[in-house]
Amino acid sequence: MTRRERTLSLIKPDAIAAGHTGKILDHITSAGFQIIGLRMVFLSRTQAEAFYYMHRERPFFPSLIEFMTSGPVIAFVLEKENAIQAYRDLMGATDPAKAAPGTLRALFGQNVEKNAVHGSDSPENARREIAFFFSEAELIPVQSTFPQPV
Ligand code: ATP
Ligand code: MG
Repeated sequence: MTRRERTLSLIKPDAIAAGHTGKILDHITSAGFQIIGLRMVFLSRTQAEAFYYMHRERPFFPSLIEFMTSGPVIAFVLEKENAIQAYRDLMGATDPAKAAPGTLRALFGQNVEKNAVHGSDSPENARREIAFFFSEAELIPVQSTFPQPV
């Protein structure tokens, strides 16, 4: 059983700096995801620490915060059937070297930290992460506004 679902994605600073934004968005929309909200944000240290607070005890946390505040990110909300898992599949494994061919991280990631994109990993985290970047009023009621995907 699949149902229409929302997930939060980020294009990370490495991919924006490398000029991959357009290609990444093309892959995502070609895979049938609908973008229902999008903004560019230069995260403060406090915001980046709050977004990744679940990793605060990990050895890579200071470096991750440094990276995520090294340039702007593009945050967007995707909607699709089973969007959370479907987008994790499109992104590929955390380490681009281990990501399946054709996935966003295999195509655009540099290493396990600078891995081009983020995607929510559960419905609870999707709700939290969407609310971190967007109010409900900023999201487009996609079913009533856009033609359905073919
Ligand atoms: P994301 O949460 O960004 O979608 P993920 O769920 O695949 O990625 P997490 O385990 O949640 O991976 O790690 C969050 C982020 O921290 C990774 O995307 C990556 O940028 C960084 N990271 C994870 N593991 C490492 C590591 N071993 N060394 C350096 N950075 C890491
Ligand atoms: Mg994660």
